[in-house]
Amino acid sequence: MPSVELVAVGTELLLGQLLDTNTAYVAERMAACGIDVYGTRAVGDNRTRIAAAIAAALEHADGVVTTGGLGPTVDDLTKESVCDVLGLRAELHEPSLRAIEALFEQLRRPMRENNRKQAMLPRGAYVLENPNGTAAGFVVSRADGKFVACMPGVPHEMKPMLADRLLPWLRERFGMRDAIHTSVLHTINISESEIDHRIDDLFRALENPKIAVLAHTGRCDVKIMAKAPSRAAAEALIEPVRRELGERLAGHVFGADAQTLAGAVHGLLQARGQRLAVAESCTGGRICAALTAVPGSSASFAGGVVAYENSVKATVLGVDERNIERHGAVSSEVAAEMALGVRRRLGAELGLATTGIAGPGGGVPGKPVGLVFVGVAAADGRARTFQLEVRGQREVVQDRATTFALGVLWKQLRDWEQNA
Ligand code: AMP
Ligand code: MG
Repeated sequence: MPSVELVAVGTELLLGQLLDTNTAYVAERMAACGIDVYGTRAVGDNRTRIAAAIAAALEHADGVVTTGGLGPTVDDLTKESVCDVLGLRAELHEPSLRAIEALFEQLRRPMRENNRKQAMLPRGAYVLENPNGTAAGFVVSRADGKFVACMPGVPHEMKPMLADRLLPWLRERFGMRDAIHTSVLHTINISESEIDHRIDDLFRALENPKIAVLAHTGRCDVKIMAKAPSRAAAEALIEPVRRELGERLAGHVFGADAQTLAGAVHGLLQARGQRLAVAESCTGGRICAALTAVPGSSASFAGGVVAYENSVKATVLGVDERNIERHGAVSSEVAAEMALGVRRRLGAELGLATTGIAGPGGGVPGKPVGLVFVGVAAADGRARTFQLEVRGQREVVQDRATTFALGVLWKQLRDWEQNA
């Protein structure tokens, strides 16, 4: 397999001011194409050190892919460093200059001399056009066939350049027919070990596609990875495995690929023609945020209340204060009343509520940090409650509680659908 090393350029990366998302993104795309990533490194905006990083990376792999440092400013030095390493000179690349001029004309902004500098590319470079910005990318090759590919740092410029220009170049260069195509099944209310137990034989037997289980907070994914020359050919390999997994994990698969749990809930609500109202205590609005992230969610989501103080639970949602005193705000009784109350107040068919102890303080004997109750109020005006115990930091408790609540609701909607 061909190999590359990745170099991320930018002082801000070394100062911890900017998270290097480019490296993860490029690495993932390379793996999907069947190109090994042997190493990654980050380097500041320093001509000598960028050159040293590229030279070192070239020692280890067939090629180097850099991101960043192609901008118009004085600290953008990647091109100069590449020329230093490969003993090349930069020269004006007319088509790039015209593209930059056209972009400025379109934006009705004056073009500066430093933007002209962006059209200076190493002599003999294979140019990676940038339809989304002024920094063209490029690939240059050494006499021994090793190459250096440079792309801009701005993620929304780099990503299409990688997909449309650099990956096709790499496939051609290494005569690669196959790419890895992935499909993901999303599961809920089933543990990683239970999934593993149910699909262990497939896991061992399958070669193409391969499968892998990935645990997230409160839910798991099963990845199906097929090696094939096209998406269609991969899909033909993936489909039977997806069906088999669907059967083995029946009742737990809420979606595939880009589908989210909130999106699956939205789909089921829409199919029933029902709207949901949400009352959140310990999840602090996360459930509402997840639901409203789904395009078109206004068709199924009425709204929500973050009922944090007991007085808000009582006055806004109509929770009986005696129940709060008797059972505590974190109790199955209060979760049920919150769900019923928000459903009534917002005039929705269904209600969903959370109340729990997110921590780190607030735990008491019998009610530890991480104890969460979820209430689901049904169209017939009755409520059911569910209990979760999470071990972990505040953020983990809140995330798990959010996924748990949506998972409980998803299952409830599914059960209703099946019993209809
Ligand atoms: P540059 O091409 O180095 O001038 O980078 C331009 C911008 O792209 C930076 O200000 C960042 O916002 C973004 N950027 C650069 N490198 C990275 C990276 N490795 N990961 C994520 N964003 C980056
Ligand atoms: Mg930079």
